[in-house]
Amino acid sequence: MKVGLFFGSFNPIHIGHLIIANIMAETTDLDKVWFVVTPHNPLKPSKSLLHDFDRYDMVRAAVYEHYKLQVSDVEFHLPKPNYTIHTLVHLTEKHPDKQFKVIIGEDNLDSFTKWKNYERIIEDYGLYVYPRLQTPGAPVTNSDLKRHPNVRMVEAPLMDISATFIRNCIKKGQSVRYLVPDSVEAIIRDKKFYQ
Ligand code: ATP
Repeated sequence: MKVGLFFGSFNPIHIGHLIIANIMAETTDLDKVWFVVTPHNPLKPSKSLLHDFDRYDMVRAAVYEHYKLQVSDVEFHLPKPNYTIHTLVHLTEKHPDKQFKVIIGEDNLDSFTKWKNYERIIEDYGLYVYPRLQTPGAPVTNSDLKRHPNVRMVEAPLMDISATFIRNCIKKGQSVRYLVPDSVEAIIRDKKFYQ
């Protein structure tokens, strides 16, 4: 079974993440996509970052009833700060029946060579890459990695939606309807997150 891993803080999860994950699950050979919720990094304190379990709960609510999309808390139990290669090795030991792939945006592909053990991530696991605009100001490079046989480019729409935008809407008292699933909106409202 092939599992695509989509890493993020998901603070909160939004339709930008969900649309990409669904496209990966439905249009590629991936059997499942797991949202791997990255824990709070003690070296990078952030006031707006909700507790790990609250972000996990919102992802779980968002993917509820979609049998191809799942949520993972694996990184909560790994030493911090965590590196993707460590998570991949750990998951492969735990699930020898599964082949893990890493889902990343095209913007991250350009800086991918700075990731710890990036060659091993590509050779032993592989990348599924979706289109994503470069952060303004970032150096534009045309990554050779795109031509690597273990790097697969996947067609998907560009969506300029971010968790930061959503948190700002909530702070201003604006609706986030349609930006997050109804179930996530309900949790945010009930628990008064991001106010
Ligand atoms: P923030 O605004 O708090 O930085 P974010 O919306 O970028 O959050 P993350 O949890 O950091 O959300 O995202 C997880 C992964 O999803 C990251 O690799 C990020 O680049 C990607 N991502 C975020 N928003 C989108 C989007 N609209 N379309 C595609 N990928 C996205």
